[in-house]
Amino acid sequence: MALINENYLKLPGSYLFSEIARRVNQFKQENPDADIIRLGIGDVTRPLTPAVIQAMHDAVDEMGRAESFRGYGPEQGYDFLIQKIIDNDFTSRGIQVDVDEVFVSDGSKPDTANFQEIFGLNNIIAVTDPVYPVYVDSNVMAGRTGRFNEKGQFDNIVYLPCTEANGMKPELPKTRVDMLYLCFPNNPTGMTLTRDELKQWVDYARENKSIILYDAAYEAFIQEADIPRSIYEIEGAREVAVEFRSFSKTAGFTGTRCAYTVVPKEVMAYDQDGNAHSLNKFWLRRQTTKFNGVSYPVQVAAATIYSEAGQKEIRDNINYYMENAKMIREGLISFGYKVFGGVNAPYIWLKTPDNLGSWEFFDKLLKQANVVGTPGAGFGASGEGYFRLTAFGTRENTARALERIRTKM
Ligand code: PLP
Repeated sequence: MALINENYLKLPGSYLFSEIARRVNQFKQENPDADIIRLGIGDVTRPLTPAVIQAMHDAVDEMGRAESFRGYGPEQGYDFLIQKIIDNDFTSRGIQVDVDEVFVSDGSKPDTANFQEIFGLNNIIAVTDPVYPVYVDSNVMAGRTGRFNEKGQFDNIVYLPCTEANGMKPELPKTRVDMLYLCFPNNPTGMTLTRDELKQWVDYARENKSIILYDAAYEAFIQEADIPRSIYEIEGAREVAVEFRSFSKTAGFTGTRCAYTVVPKEVMAYDQDGNAHSLNKFWLRRQTTKFNGVSYPVQVAAATIYSEAGQKEIRDNINYYMENAKMIREGLISFGYKVFGGVNAPYIWLKTPDNLGSWEFFDKLLKQANVVGTPGAGFGASGEGYFRLTAFGTRENTARALERIRTKM
């Protein structure tokens, strides 16, 4: 008799987006003519840009000729892409990253979910609350947490509440934690940390020999010059931080799949006898065992975003989304909503009016305005009473959704 991994039994039944889909489908059945606008799921709507598409076409043609065909590539990514990543995302900002510290992958979701695998099961993890659910669920599956409790949280996880009182910025843990997941610009709150604020986390990690798992998937959306784009802008971060970056939102690769993770050689975790081991070596071992690399045409496409044309095109798309973000943010404020985010991130986190619960607001918004958003409670207990809208819609739909919120809510 095969036994199941019982940790999976700890996961609560319905995943956030399936519950949203269920409610929207039900509403559609009851109201077949309703014109629903989705500002919920964080997928992009702008297509891949011309330079990216041209490069991908050319790479596909290369794959069709015997002399330029490529089979298995290096698991950690082709040098041509890694070198572009280093030059453009790091060296140009005065950050040192070596070629063997970059691991190209098929997404930050898999990377942030899988990275925990190289750590001991007794480590205490800390997450912000609300949080991108992947960090939590992947640790639950691995068995690093207790059960799902009455508070709607897992035992043995340290939750760092982000609330109106602290301006959606988490406070340092009161107790020692070993693995700390941070995501800035944040999904779902859309908030960022200043350099001084981020430095406190790096200092904490250095003092406690903890590791920061830093998700910078939305780095490209930062508008303000003094907001750090990489944790490695902070002194000492190379000793304690792993950074996850993605082409998904930066360049519209959600359906194309390419991302990368930086694992500096200095970052160490310890065995029972206190001997230090380089996470870089362990991650290389894990990836070469379980991953066979991103396809050649996709890596060529990703490298193309660093060309002059590529940069201009992806900038235009990011500006388009950030214009939507500004419209949503300023619109909601003018209608009297309390909002966070939307300045350096494509997410707007609003406080639900009249003390409505997140799901109550979801239902009301769907019924009255035919607009779909994401209930904050789906991101953690502290998300109750909040609601996420995204700037990834079309300009037209964003404007229409706002008009409906103004007139029908
Ligand atoms: N990290 C955060 C915080 C995200 O919000 C998302 C996607 O929504 C991802 C990672 C996933 O990125 P990818 O498409 O590279 O897997």
